[in-house]
Amino acid sequence: MVNVDKLLIKEQFSKNDILELLTLTDISDLQKLYDKADKVRRDNVGDIVHMRGIIEFSNYCGRWCSYCGLNANNVNIERYRMSVDEIVETAYKAHNLGYKTVVLQSGEDSYYTIDIIESIIRKIKDQMDMFITLGLGERPDEEFECMKKAGADRYLIKHETSDRELYKKLHPDMSFDERIRCLKTAKRVGLELGSGIMIGLPGQTLETLANDILLFKELQVDMAGMGPYIPHPGTELYKDFKEIGYFAKDLDFDLEEMVYKMLAVTRLVNKKVNLPATTALATTNPAKGRELALSRGANVVMPNVTDLKYRKMYEIYPAKACIDEKPEDCRKCIDARITSIGRTPL
Ligand code: SAH
Repeated sequence: MVNVDKLLIKEQFSKNDILELLTLTDISDLQKLYDKADKVRRDNVGDIVHMRGIIEFSNYCGRWCSYCGLNANNVNIERYRMSVDEIVETAYKAHNLGYKTVVLQSGEDSYYTIDIIESIIRKIKDQMDMFITLGLGERPDEEFECMKKAGADRYLIKHETSDRELYKKLHPDMSFDERIRCLKTAKRVGLELGSGIMIGLPGQTLETLANDILLFKELQVDMAGMGPYIPHPGTELYKDFKEIGYFAKDLDFDLEEMVYKMLAVTRLVNKKVNLPATTALATTNPAKGRELALSRGANVVMPNVTDLKYRKMYEIYPAKACIDEKPEDCRKCIDARITSIGRTPL
């Protein structure tokens, strides 16, 4: 029997402690874990929920990621690119809706050279008071330096899974070491660093998830984004999902619960980290996913501010939450959800 009370008063968590916490299933034990994570969140990062508006500016992608609907082999989606002016205008709309940060995210689209990226950063910084997070995928070291010099504040590049073998399977054209290189470079040049993972990937084990939490610590991430893996029929991994299901064979975890456990344990291990209540979680549980995440360790929400005409086309997974909502409605809806649980959107 695991003694939860003893585990939860620890200040340092070993891999074994993490594994024990992730194994909890008893409802009263889980409640203790969630209450503790909520307290650690309040004591370390406060009651403010940081709102970061995402602009998905291009769904062109040169990569073959086997889980993602934007992968280069998917000929069944219509591709779009926003112009520099459109991106800056969208950032301005986000600014007017009260956002202090915009997250510029895209497929790995080489159309946007570093010169174009720099000009987007400079224009946004010149025209409004706004933090800029970029999530463009892998780039050479020099480009991270240029982005930082141009005024970017943060970079988001998830390690997706710490299991090298699984990583290779998910990314046949990529290397785990390259991913880590990008994460380390972003941190080294002074960008705040966001990593993250998907939870429930076919083949994933509890040990993988414990290692993911330890890797967040090792990389000294400023943010860790965690959401459920949502199968996309237009991808390679869908076949594995049909055969294996969520997680490795014979592991019968409840997917949504595992996401909350991961959020809570990550909060205990990395007390000051920013943890978003992800859109993927809101997709799995539209009624309560975000609120539950925010009560179990999370302190960030990233609403979509992309124009409706593009939103449907950025289909990394099907039935994405808020796909039909206008940016202003999204903001209102999420503000109300945050206030309803006694927290303050900013
Ligand atoms: N090209 C950028 C952005 C990728 S999309 C990059 O490489 O960083 C942003 C995130 O969506 C990915 O990092 C991945 O974690 C998530 N994602 C993609 N497909 C998904 C799926 N089927 N289910 C859940 N999350 C997914």
